[in-house]
Amino acid sequence: MNNSRAQLAEKILSLKKERNAVILAHNYQLGEVQDIADFVGDSLELSQNAARTSADAIVFCGVHFMAETASILCPDKIVLLPVMEAGCPMANMIRAEDLRKMKKEHPGAVVVCYVNTTAEVKAESDICCTSANAVRLVQRLEAREIIFVPDQYLGHYVSTKTGKKMILWPGYCPTHVRIQAEDIHRLRKMYPRAEVMVHPECRPEVVAIADFVLSTGGMIRHAKSSQAAEIIVGTEIGMIYRLRKENPDKVFIPISEQAVCPNMKMITLENILWSMEDMSPQVKVAENIRLKAKKAVDRMIEVG
Ligand code: SF4
Repeated sequence: MNNSRAQLAEKILSLKKERNAVILAHNYQLGEVQDIADFVGDSLELSQNAARTSADAIVFCGVHFMAETASILCPDKIVLLPVMEAGCPMANMIRAEDLRKMKKEHPGAVVVCYVNTTAEVKAESDICCTSANAVRLVQRLEAREIIFVPDQYLGHYVSTKTGKKMILWPGYCPTHVRIQAEDIHRLRKMYPRAEVMVHPECRPEVVAIADFVLSTGGMIRHAKSSQAAEIIVGTEIGMIYRLRKENPDKVFIPISEQAVCPNMKMITLENILWSMEDMSPQVKVAENIRLKAKKAVDRMIEVG
């Protein structure tokens, strides 16, 4: 970090104390943002942290649905999202009215929503899940029919792992679909001893040829415990920063340099500072939606 970046980071840390704020950052955030965060993790870890914190304000370095989840869990805290426009295109692929229509077509179905959904969609769901706990959670459901929204690829993966028939919404992550099976074949030739780990938001043909299918939190843990010296990684490129930082003795090779989530990269040290100075923009979920959405999120956190 050069001098001006270091000064900026220092300003953020001192303002953080003044505001009694906690900074949470997703694994896909820019390296310099990860470096100043109190906690870096995947969606599940971040929501668990948001639920536990005693800070007055949460600065969420991630995308809109993550800040909404923090607001759902901590209604009396201020939740800052430094850039309001940082959204998740996958989460925006389904609206509450789409889900209501789907529920009418499948009465009695249990609705599982990926955490990458708006608060309104969560409010229409029975249980929320993340890529870390989706298989475990669906496995335990006793339901004749399961509706899974919005990620068709995560849903497909969960359905193959659990053997359960699921009704899938055709959403997808525009970043993870850039990861191609041909790239894995090419890299395997270059690094024949490397392990391949991919995120379950990847296409089924990518997931099918990987050695490990893991959430970003799972990737962090696996990278530490693995005996492999080289690991090929299929997820958003921001993960590579943390993997390299925490495992300097190992080599991490991204499957695709194109797997960049532009929304995750909107948060910078500058806008974190501005947002803490102004205590804006804030994300606050309306109470009637929050109470319904909280039931789905609480059920997820109970399962862990
Ligand atoms: S990486 Fe994909 S799923 Fe994650 S925030 Fe970006 S668009 Fe959404």
